[in-house]
Amino acid sequence: MQAQGEGRREANLALLLRTLRARGPLSRTQLAAGSGLSKATVSPLLANLEHRGLTQRAGTTTTQGRPGQLVQLRPGAVCGIGLDVHPGHLGATVTDLTGEVHLRRRTSCDTSAPEHALDRLADLTRKALTDVPDADWAGVTVAIPGRADRATGTATAHRLRWREVAVVDGLAARTGLPIGRLDVDTEANLAAYAEHDRDPVDHLVYLNGDHTVAAGVIANGELVRGADNHAGEVGHLVLDPLGGAHCACGRRGCWETQVGLDAFLHACAPRHDEVHNPELAPGERMSILRARAERGDARTLDALARTAAALASGIAVLTTLLNPRKVVLGGYFAALQDWLVAPQRQGRTRITASTLGFAAGGTGAALAALRRVLDDPTVVPVKDNTPRTGGSHEGASA
Ligand SMILES: [Zn+2]
Repeated sequence: MQAQGEGRREANLALLLRTLRARGPLSRTQLAAGSGLSKATVSPLLANLEHRGLTQRAGTTTTQGRPGQLVQLRPGAVCGIGLDVHPGHLGATVTDLTGEVHLRRRTSCDTSAPEHALDRLADLTRKALTDVPDADWAGVTVAIPGRADRATGTATAHRLRWREVAVVDGLAARTGLPIGRLDVDTEANLAAYAEHDRDPVDHLVYLNGDHTVAAGVIANGELVRGADNHAGEVGHLVLDPLGGAHCACGRRGCWETQVGLDAFLHACAPRHDEVHNPELAPGERMSILRARAERGDARTLDALARTAAALASGIAVLTTLLNPRKVVLGGYFAALQDWLVAPQRQGRTRITASTLGFAAGGTGAALAALRRVLDDPTVVPVKDNTPRTGGSHEGASA
């Protein structure tokens, strides 16, 4: 068990790191004021962060005639890897503590074969580790368009035809990375985490606009996961049980059959049309549809109007149930926001388009991978010969 003093020191280091992340660059005085710690407490803690290579000096500021040294997070010091899985392709995102994206990659893959997909995810991880060579690595998080069990590291996704796939064990075996650095979560939860990181609204719902429609729900600043980690599967709210289309889950009239990307694309264009081409990135397909809408194509505009109306019905259910301050619409909803987001009105709830694109889950996954360091900065090893002031954690280098 840790000594109480040491636990408090780690908590204070984490507090300074988070304060710098939210508000830096800051002087010692500003950091003390921003964190609620005394200046005398802040000084040795800052030295500790600097020895780990997490912070650096950033010029001076002048307050009341006295110059003060500014401190900021060191860009690229620690990185997290986010991997995202979609039907037909995989993505990788590398982000540092400042939120800067160092790498984004997308690759085609037959994701219906889980072992093959895990091979390719391991390839993406190894490439990320070599392409950003100077960073310490916090960890890797995989975003799943379906269900994820963080306790067992497994994932189930109808769209991928994955059932209880051992994602964490499979990646650990292929990459040699310790299991403690690997994690799995749902795409919607991770995207909500990324949105909350940008704008820390205490009550927020992120809605995924893709083949799978799911919500990441944040209440009182925390993700709502539910008893079995299935919270947020809102694509299977049955909104039209009698006349609705059949859903992959076996029921009729699920919301996903009305506002999912498949339903939308089929409403927009016949089967042979280029918008159905899986070789085209989702963003490219949306550009084609945006151009058609802008020149007044009747079929596209009709599909957009019907999708916007169906979207409003479901969002009304979510806002009634959860009373969020903000609903963020992602994926294709955001790509076609003039028609799908702008018309939405739900009382006092702000409804906005995500700026994170179709890789929102991967961005959130990379940020989530950094939590290990944000929770306890001492997992990052000291970089010079300065004597350590306690703690004996493993280093964060891969
Ligand atoms: Zn369903």
